Amino acid sequence: MRPPTSPYQRDPAPAATALARVRGQAPQIRANVRRLAAFANVHSCPTAAVAFAARVDTGKVLAGTSMEMPFGQSPFAIGRGVAFEALLRRHGHAELRRVLTEGLGTDFTLAAIENLREGYPPNRAGLRMRATVTRTRMAEIADGPAEPVVLDGAVLEADIGGLPAFFEADEMAIGVGGQILVGENKSWPVVDGRPTDEDALGAALDQAATYVLLGRRTLEQAGVDPVRMSDSVVLVTPRNTGLGPSLHRQDVASRIRRIQRLLTAVPDVLETAASTAQSVTFDVVADTTRPENERLQAFGDVTGELGRVYDPANCLTSCGFARACRQQLFTEADPAFVGGQVARALPGITSLSRVAELSRGAPASAVEAPAAAPLTRAGRLYDAIIPAHGHEQRRTA
Ligand code: SF4
Repeated sequence: MRPPTSPYQRDPAPAATALARVRGQAPQIRANVRRLAAFANVHSCPTAAVAFAARVDTGKVLAGTSMEMPFGQSPFAIGRGVAFEALLRRHGHAELRRVLTEGLGTDFTLAAIENLREGYPPNRAGLRMRATVTRTRMAEIADGPAEPVVLDGAVLEADIGGLPAFFEADEMAIGVGGQILVGENKSWPVVDGRPTDEDALGAALDQAATYVLLGRRTLEQAGVDPVRMSDSVVLVTPRNTGLGPSLHRQDVASRIRRIQRLLTAVPDVLETAASTAQSVTFDVVADTTRPENERLQAFGDVTGELGRVYDPANCLTSCGFARACRQQLFTEADPAFVGGQVARALPGITSLSRVAELSRGAPASAVEAPAAAPLTRAGRLYDAIIPAHGHEQRRTA
């Protein structure tokens, strides 16, 4: 454990106050496995790091503005998910028992299936109680009971950036012969053995791999050898266009290693709180009673204060601020607008209009010099191969 280095690390209460100030009236979100995986894609951005530490729901802060991102599942997908889960649990989990028996080659007819979603209060205290039961049951499974065991709605507790967080899994954990398998239910179909959405499959496997990692930590806390958690996970999905479930087992060892590296990149909440200026808050940005231009101006002030690391490929899929950041970069003609790779190739150059000037041979400052020479060469090449019409357009641009 690191020694305390700031007043916040000696006393976490002011950190909570500081993070509440950063959040303001922005909607709060609990850390979950999907959000953790999304943050891992943009962890090098200071704005994203502060928003993550303050548990700001980036997908909702800009709600009601033209910069709101179209995140979230469609009502159809949510309805399908609910129906699929209900099908698996109906009649004492009959369908789940069948699909596990067929898919794992072990008879689950008499398996002990414990539903941890029922009988606990639907709040943080309830999650903590479920996490305690999960830890106890996992240790029991590792002892190799005679019949298979399934924990439906298991909860794992983990320290994320210095704060405790609870993660709720689907079938995690499935216990067979002393081994523990992570199981996830997904309602998108697998047609003729192929998922209809490869991205959704990747996200589901990342999710399951994160549970394996957290499950191993839980076993260690219980004094049990973490190798009891299998590297292979189970996905239960509908087969073809109906809801009839089928099971897929997949090795996620390489994903576990990658996610382990990414988890170490999660910012320490207390350090983030200590290093964030008093003026930084998403309060005005999230204030739906204010006009859009005021909210976007406030967003620009926050990102200007904290800094941004924009990469279209990651930002557009993983951060609710992507549209607003992209618009700001466009307005500022920032080279990052066209991607991090291009921006890195243009050190010292702060705008795309300056890129155009240098490509036309404008004198470069000392800081621009390394990128200026190749830009001027590229400009000459462009002039040589583009017909006169395009040539004139470039000169007058
Ligand atoms: S969209 Fe903006 S805030 Fe989010 S990660 Fe990208 S640059 Fe950072």
